[in-house]
Amino acid sequence: MKSLVIHAAKDLRIEEHLVEEPGVGQVQIKLASGGICGSDLHYYNHGGFGTVKLKQPMILGHEVSGHVVKLGAGVEDFKLGQLVAVSPSRPCRTCKYCQEGLHNQCLNMRFYGSAMPYPHIQGAFREVLVADVSQCVLADGLSSGEAAMAEPLAVTLHATRRAGDMLGKSVLVTGCGPIGLLSILAARRAGADRVVAVDISDFTLQMAKRIGADEVLNTKANPDALASFSKDKGTFDILYECSGAQPALVGAIAALRPRGKIMQLGLGGDMSLPMMAITAKELSLMGSFRFHEEFATAVSLMRKGLIDVKPLMTHSFSLPDAVKGFELANDRSAAIKVQIAF
Ligand SMILES: [Zn+2]
Ligand SMILES: [Zn+2]
Repeated sequence: MKSLVIHAAKDLRIEEHLVEEPGVGQVQIKLASGGICGSDLHYYNHGGFGTVKLKQPMILGHEVSGHVVKLGAGVEDFKLGQLVAVSPSRPCRTCKYCQEGLHNQCLNMRFYGSAMPYPHIQGAFREVLVADVSQCVLADGLSSGEAAMAEPLAVTLHATRRAGDMLGKSVLVTGCGPIGLLSILAARRAGADRVVAVDISDFTLQMAKRIGADEVLNTKANPDALASFSKDKGTFDILYECSGAQPALVGAIAALRPRGKIMQLGLGGDMSLPMMAITAKELSLMGSFRFHEEFATAVSLMRKGLIDVKPLMTHSFSLPDAVKGFELANDRSAAIKVQIAF
């Protein structure tokens, strides 16, 4: 079988690997779709991000779906041919955080396609994948591309859960890549009343508008676009910060009303913040990282038609053209989610 292996920045190769057999409680999956994520792009563009650097070749990919083609011993929950969304989250289930139910904080996490630990955790961009039954969620009725969107959608559902009460709230989203756009859908589903989206690309802002943002603001064209929202100590109850860019967060803090909440999803490295404003307006600064049980919720909401991710799936490339797909995914003026068809 073929897999997609990153060796160094801009060195992405299609390589031949042996097919693995499913063990007890596992299924073998013929991969159908794989979404290119921001972290995959960081490995492709820079060989890593922040302190995380590639030290050995690694199969990329963690947003995947496929069809069950072989059942391991003891597997009764799935049938051959079924489409499943595969969660890349593989916590150990025995460390202290797993015991507390904080699976995304697992001390021994084996999240697909991650160079955080060494040896690196190999990813899921491969023609045939063996996964634990507990990672698989039946995705009947969805396209394989939609099923592969469960992972980034789960990221935003986790952030929405952490943000707490959403009903009737005013929400600001900074950074309208796939995570920002999915945050709009998640916040709306949770009952947000007013949603304003900020970016520096008109293409992504058009998409934000199309999927339901009330207002979109280009802060490159108009750096003071948020000024009117910053009067009288601010407007927004909740911020989804999805850009990881310091100017975006600093500008948004001025537009948050007293006791507002900052959900930081963007991973842009360390930055300095206006702590006086955070203190005086009694803002809550919260991080949000990955997900666990929200993965199944993401599949369920899509299957029920309660969240529609289809507009965000802008491009698909076949495996031999994967490098073209990565190059296009880099272009924020042309693509939102680029997927690879295996
Ligand atoms: Zn992802
Ligand atoms: Zn654990």
